Amino acid sequence: MPFKPSRNIFIRLLRFLTFVDLPIRKKFLLFALGTLFWFTAICLVVYVALFNIHSKYGQIVEDTIPHDRLMQKVTRDLQVLSADATNIQMAESLKMVETRAEIARLRIKDIKGYLSALALGGEINDYSRDTGKLLETFRTTPVGDNPENIKSLRGLGTEIDDLSKLFNNYVGLQISSFKTDTNRSEMIQSALDEFNQSLSVSILLTHDFAARTAGLYQSYTSDINEIIKVTAIAVAVVFFISTLLLLVFSRWIALAISRPVQAIIKQIHSLASGDVDLSKRIPITTCDEIGELSDEFNQVMETVHGMTTFKKVIEEDDSLEDIYSRLGEVFTKLGIENYMIYEISHNKKEMKAVYPIVLSNKDLFCNPDILTNCALCKAFKTGHQISSISYPRMCKQFLPDTGKEHICIPLIIGGSAGGVVQFLFDRPAEGDINTDAVMTKLFKADTYITQSLSVIEAKRLMATLKESALKDPMTGLYNRRFLQEHTEHLLAGVARRGKNVGLLMCDLDYFKQVNDELGHDAGDTVLKETCKVIQNAVRSSDFVIRFGGEEFLVLLIDIADGEAMQVAEKIRANVEANKIKLEGILVQKTISIGVAEFPMDGEGFWQTIKFADVALYKAKDSGRNKAIRFDKSMWSESEF
Ligand code: GH3
Ligand code: MG
Ligand code: MG
Repeated sequence: MPFKPSRNIFIRLLRFLTFVDLPIRKKFLLFALGTLFWFTAICLVVYVALFNIHSKYGQIVEDTIPHDRLMQKVTRDLQVLSADATNIQMAESLKMVETRAEIARLRIKDIKGYLSALALGGEINDYSRDTGKLLETFRTTPVGDNPENIKSLRGLGTEIDDLSKLFNNYVGLQISSFKTDTNRSEMIQSALDEFNQSLSVSILLTHDFAARTAGLYQSYTSDINEIIKVTAIAVAVVFFISTLLLLVFSRWIALAISRPVQAIIKQIHSLASGDVDLSKRIPITTCDEIGELSDEFNQVMETVHGMTTFKKVIEEDDSLEDIYSRLGEVFTKLGIENYMIYEISHNKKEMKAVYPIVLSNKDLFCNPDILTNCALCKAFKTGHQISSISYPRMCKQFLPDTGKEHICIPLIIGGSAGGVVQFLFDRPAEGDINTDAVMTKLFKADTYITQSLSVIEAKRLMATLKESALKDPMTGLYNRRFLQEHTEHLLAGVARRGKNVGLLMCDLDYFKQVNDELGHDAGDTVLKETCKVIQNAVRSSDFVIRFGGEEFLVLLIDIADGEAMQVAEKIRANVEANKIKLEGILVQKTISIGVAEFPMDGEGFWQTIKFADVALYKAKDSGRNKAIRFDKSMWSESEF
């Protein structure tokens, strides 16, 4: 039985997610895609992290390091400016003052340039004041998007402007002091103090900016650390989930494939060792190729099981009829509705339809002539399968207007056909018959037929042996043993129907003379001829038994009152009238008959036979060539 999907939605969803019902190729494809998905997910997490780290690092490189270094430069210049101012105070000539003042002004200009580069962003080169060589290039981004930094830079810019003014004021005082040669040391000192004070404020502001830049640097590095931490966790989680899923799925897929395969291997092993329970089925849990394989395997085992059981069962059957009817049951089970089993007679001349039982020749699909001349049947004659599907009108005996196709398989027993099984299939009104479906059924049916052949042969042989033991070989009549074995069965039927059995004990008159005068062979001929006459005088349902040497017992089944005497008289008259040709002469013999009826005349059957015999002696005694009905007066208890 193939796999039936569950109605439970949860189970169906689970089956869908675990793709157990997909073909193996798709299962592995999806498994590979799943692995690729998780691999991509890990790569993606790492890529996003690297991208973020890269951009944070870029921010550090562009937004913090150049600003910090440039501000350090400003701080250094401011510190040098303090030394410049002191040097100007210590200058000994006006020229020296002017030279030093010029250098300091250039420095202030540089500072302003640095500050503008910081505020607006851009590239600024630092050259050596002594050699003119390029020392360093600062590439900065504008600090515009940071309001704290703008405020700080603005404050510093104003302070530097003030510083510049204070410096000019201080230098102006120093120059005028030299020019007028007046001592203005107090004023100069006060201007210098004011300048130095502003310088200190400016340096503090640069420190303030540097601290903020360092803070920004720290925030970027802590961002990077955070990204690395989150990435590490994300990669670990994704790796854990993907590993878990891969393990679960690979185990699922592996088990779904290996379990049924192992079960099949186990069954095959036990089959090989002969220790197998053929009725055991492999459970079908999936509808993929493995499910299909299990189903096919189960079907094969079922067929093997069916056949083994079939053979055992028919071996134990009593009669051939039972075997034929079991074959019929198998055919019906295989889906073959129409079939006919024919049995070929021992003399290989006749055949008869034995299953299903046909009431008239009209029920046959073949020309009824085959029944009396089985050589007309092509399957019998050739010993091969005859199919109208592979070749239309293959057999001329098959009636043309049945609307059916036939396939006839001979039952080859002992080297020749002992029977023929005819399978019939409806011919479709349109198109061709489904040959594959027919052949599949036929293959199985043929296997069952092959299984049954040896049993049919054995049963037929046994039946023949039994038949020969119960028949007289010379006349072909049943013998006394038949009577002994079948009396019970025969009488049960008669008793059930409440009828009588007529018993006619027949004995040829002066038969010994034939033997004596014409020889034993002539005597045999007379016996055979006489038994034919008797058989022709009775119904086919009656039994003629060779009771003794030239004594025949006729059993008339279900007779009406007075009928036994009529039949006896008919036999007597026919025997008398019968002329037997013997070595050129015609011989006519007479017969004496004793008639009794069971259970009318006697309580026991064998007793009634004795009464018929008594009546026969009466006939002999009273002149022969007579039929005499038994009468109680002919018999006294003591004689029995
Ligand atoms: P009747 O019955 O009229 O008294 O005379 P009868 O000559 O028939 O007498 P009886 O019953 O004594 O003889 C029967 C003879 O039948 C004896 C036996 O040799 C002969 N007989 C029995 N069986 C066969 C047989 O199979 N073939 C032949 N040819 N003769 C047989
Ligand atoms: Mg006799
Ligand atoms: Mg006799």
